[in-house]
Amino acid sequence: MESKKFYITTAIDYVNQKPHLGTAYEKIGADCMARYKRLCGYDTYFLMGNDEHSTNVEREALRRSMDPLDYCREMSGQFTGTWNALHISFDDFIHTTEERHRGAVTELFRRIDQNGYIYKGKYEGLYCESCEEFISEKDLVEGKCPRHNQEPARIAEENYFFALSKFADRLLEHIENNPGFILPRTRANEVINVIKGGLQDVSISRSGKKWGIPLPGDDTHVIYVWFDALTNYISALGYGGKDTGLFEKFWPADFHVIGKDITRFHCVIWPSMLMAAGVDLPRSVFAHGFISLAGEKMSKTRGNILDPEKMASVFGADGLRYLLMREVPFDKDGDISVAILVNRYNADLANELGNLFSRTAAMIAKYLEGRVEPAPFEAGCEMYGDLSRAVSGYREHMEKMEFSRALGAYWTVIQRANRFIEEKSPWLLAKDESKKPELQALFRELLAVLRTTGIVLSPFMPVKMEEMLGQLGGAEYSIDQLPPARSGAERLSPPTPLFPRMQDKLEDIFKD
Ligand SMILES: [Zn+2]
Repeated sequence: MESKKFYITTAIDYVNQKPHLGTAYEKIGADCMARYKRLCGYDTYFLMGNDEHSTNVEREALRRSMDPLDYCREMSGQFTGTWNALHISFDDFIHTTEERHRGAVTELFRRIDQNGYIYKGKYEGLYCESCEEFISEKDLVEGKCPRHNQEPARIAEENYFFALSKFADRLLEHIENNPGFILPRTRANEVINVIKGGLQDVSISRSGKKWGIPLPGDDTHVIYVWFDALTNYISALGYGGKDTGLFEKFWPADFHVIGKDITRFHCVIWPSMLMAAGVDLPRSVFAHGFISLAGEKMSKTRGNILDPEKMASVFGADGLRYLLMREVPFDKDGDISVAILVNRYNADLANELGNLFSRTAAMIAKYLEGRVEPAPFEAGCEMYGDLSRAVSGYREHMEKMEFSRALGAYWTVIQRANRFIEEKSPWLLAKDESKKPELQALFRELLAVLRTTGIVLSPFMPVKMEEMLGQLGGAEYSIDQLPPARSGAERLSPPTPLFPRMQDKLEDIFKD
């Protein structure tokens, strides 16, 4: 039987600049998944962190005349501050300068070395310090790294190499036997092509550097920043340390959530490192797409959109979470602009969900003095079938991290409930005393929909949904018992709106 544990991680971030919207998009997606799994009763561990041993980080610290470690601490406050502001519910936040991490990296290196997969050799070639990556001539565009438009450094060093080439066949076999190992499938095909194109051994040390973890047995080298960084997924669980309880409980990871630009590291190098050390492989690497701003015509607002805290101050943290997850399918690239986000906010949150809640609660307060007689909610009820279908569609997509489709599937019942109100016209029923039971039944059904919504949408909008459920008098339903078997309300007060309509003058929204 499958154990009810769930371990999810995000990429750790270089701290040479503040978090931006693309980074936030990844964390929000992973957070929605972590919260969903907690709802489903999984013992969940959600790891995030910062990647600090980068030359970029050291350089930025020195530029500010700061000690790199002090600089990393300061940036850690900035990152976790942003994540908290966006309601990201990480259980652990690792910094690669921490002692627990250093121990794990050292131990992993030793094991791989003992198993005979590390050797000393000469590296002569190119290194892009912005990528923190050894790159080959054929990847250059007009002599420059295409991602950074800068010339790579030419280095000739005596380095330590990891025998990556020995793992090509085992990797291919693993990917073939585990169709869920790399998601979405398009990314798996890219990785398969990379492996079939031939794997070369990779340098895993830098000589003459101080900022990093000293190589065991040779402190004239530090361990290459990617070898160091990837190890965070096990170092946070105590691998190589005194207390390995978390490692035994949560490893292998269920999902590494990463950007699609770092699949080579996560789907080729990392699993090979683990195989070399005799450690189990993660179950799945999910490579999300990127947000682009091609649709944003106003140049001044582009910079503001890229600041996640500014965006949260406009749409609310939960509003922003919803908009990003709804508008950009997690497995694909997607284009956004202020106009797209404002339209979506007004249509989905202010009009459809916000109105459904506000007018239902207001009418219950007005027509029924806040009381809806509790009674069973069952298959014969008019909203029951729609609600059941919406919940199961939502769950099916959530399991695959298809957040946009999950929300789309669930939204059908919110729209249906609004039409249901129009069809029944409670304002007419309320005028006729003999129609009281009908009025009661109508609101009982709407309450069942709203309380279900409060649970189902809580991974996306944790604070707003708690607020809504609080105003509805709470709900103790578990996600496995939806739709609820009973519905009703005691002493419901007139509502406080959840999603005030956004002004239509878009150019004013991001005014400083
Ligand atoms: Zn580069």
